Amino acid sequence: MNLLFKHIRWYSEGWIRAGDVRIGQGRVLETGRGLTPKRRERVVEGDGYLALPGLINAHDHLDLNLFPRLGHPPYDNFYDWGRAIYHPDQSPVRDVLRVPLADRLWWSAYKQLISGVTTVAHHNPYVRRVFGRRFPVKVLRRYRWAHSLGHSHDVAKTFARSRGCPFIIHAAEGIDAASSDEIERLDRMGVLASNTVLVHGIALTPAQIRRLAARKVSVVWCPSSNLHLYGHTAPVEALKRDGVRVALGTDSTLSGAPTLWDELRAAQTTGLAEPADLLDMVTVTAASIFGLKDGRGTLRRYAPADLILLPDTGADAPETLVAATPASVALVLIDGTPRLADPAWAETLGLGPPNAFVGGLPRWMTGSIEALRARIVATVDEAILTQNPLWDVMGHESWVMSHGGVMKPS
Ligand SMILES: [Zn+2]
Repeated sequence: MNLLFKHIRWYSEGWIRAGDVRIGQGRVLETGRGLTPKRRERVVEGDGYLALPGLINAHDHLDLNLFPRLGHPPYDNFYDWGRAIYHPDQSPVRDVLRVPLADRLWWSAYKQLISGVTTVAHHNPYVRRVFGRRFPVKVLRRYRWAHSLGHSHDVAKTFARSRGCPFIIHAAEGIDAASSDEIERLDRMGVLASNTVLVHGIALTPAQIRRLAARKVSVVWCPSSNLHLYGHTAPVEALKRDGVRVALGTDSTLSGAPTLWDELRAAQTTGLAEPADLLDMVTVTAASIFGLKDGRGTLRRYAPADLILLPDTGADAPETLVAATPASVALVLIDGTPRLADPAWAETLGLGPPNAFVGGLPRWMTGSIEALRARIVATVDEAILTQNPLWDVMGHESWVMSHGGVMKPS
């Protein structure tokens, strides 16, 4: 879509600017004041909106977002939690895993869209047949991964094949000595390097943090998952002080917050990071950690036109970010193509009538969440699905009507 946003405010790399933004060929072509429309370009009024680069969710398991939180925390480490919840022959694990993988992945794609996320790092194998052009969001494609030292064989061998792309592994997820010893074990295996991305890092010691900084290892922070399961989270202030790159991830609904907006607020509540740090974590820092060199995380010239529009309250970008909810997201473009729009933007861009309710408000979203929900309900008892924190947030009209015409705000 070739678009010229007039009179908009936009944020990129620490700065807010006001004026016009031209989008074409899937990229940000030009920004400035008083840009003149070109042929076959749709001119749209951006006054009242703040455009941000599409957010990057640095950690999720896209196959696991139909679950409610499971377990009875607190736990000492991830392995104790895993043993407590993994009962594949019992409800709800048995029921939810009956939903075909493609449907679970699409459900999670909508979770990203309503969070303003345009790129997500999926911690599991890349599913080529699903993550194609029609899939609502971009999924990190170039990566190697291992689940964790305890659940993966040949971590060193997988790492050895990761040259030139990020190597992502859960590590130090817990509060006991065994959790922090994982860092020593990874070090002995030669796995702590500049392309290594450690997810969680709760049990990192000050000496280990200095070692991560020296080796240019990065960390993904998932505060709501951590605080829920262990009552502690990663030492993010120390990581920042020593210069370790930190991105932010939601993890799945098995342990984490429903949306990235909730995750941002959970992160802010810890007091370990300022809103400006958080904005970097979900844009430029995540892009740097994952080696996304195409301009993602920015709205600079020739960056992919992955952007989100939030109502412009006059606040600065970090404050707008941490105050947002699914209901705030007015428009999501990925490579210049609309993926989510409020009714006004759907009409302006000729997308059709709303086909979804997000956070209680009508929205147009790519694909059919109505058909997706119908397929899921045909497989799993709805009493189980309503325990999923997203089930009431991402609906559609007939579902809203059958539930009395009211949706709970997120
Ligand atoms: Zn995880």
